[in-house]
Amino acid sequence: MARIKTTLVAGHAKRKGPGACYKRGYCEAHFTPDVVERIKMILHQAGVSYRDCTKSSLGAIVACANYGESEIFVSVHFNGFTLKSACGSEVWYYPGSKNGKRLAGCIQKQLVNRLKTRNRGIKCKKGFYVLGIPIGKIGQLLFPRTAEKIEAMSRTKMPAVIVEPMFITNPVEASRIFSPAGRQQIAEAIAAGILDYFKIRYPAPTPAPPKYNLDMLGGWLSNHEDRINLIEKKLGLK
Ligand SMILES: [Zn+2]
Repeated sequence: MARIKTTLVAGHAKRKGPGACYKRGYCEAHFTPDVVERIKMILHQAGVSYRDCTKSSLGAIVACANYGESEIFVSVHFNGFTLKSACGSEVWYYPGSKNGKRLAGCIQKQLVNRLKTRNRGIKCKKGFYVLGIPIGKIGQLLFPRTAEKIEAMSRTKMPAVIVEPMFITNPVEASRIFSPAGRQQIAEAIAAGILDYFKIRYPAPTPAPPKYNLDMLGGWLSNHEDRINLIEKKLGLK
């Protein structure tokens, strides 16, 4: 059986907390699933298999990813910060993972090129340290969002990245996240990065399905089912 190439996760969707928010009801969890759906469409067009491991707990996400033995793990988030001015793109990978770093680099490059966002770079962190002493539990309390990122990447067996394409707390970037066209751009950038990693060409846009002129085929038919039957007959499907 061929391995699934990509495991996708819509950050915070189906989870307890909605993640970072612009305002109530406008949080990561409300927009990451749409971006993931758009990524799936592009991967499908490119012939890249995927599995969606968006689950209600971190343990379930990790189990789903590891069970599928997929080649890479990509979790889509939006960034957040108390200062509204914070903006730009960044991608996280797990320290020591050579392919994780390469994947993060591929996605980051496409994000910055396509979205024209501020390049915050690729980032990695194994844990929280003060003067070289690990402060795991305190770090988890102080930075729960970062702690969870690190944990997800440490427990998945394949190269894993956490993608933060924009800040949902920045008004300009939030307006892009809230618009379908903006989310399409984000999805295209992430998908392009994934395809770069696999050295697969970005798919050409699929032509729109041909339109059949119902009047030519039998405009006199008022019944919808009759029309469908007639079209199918003309196309040799019946
Ligand atoms: Zn997040």
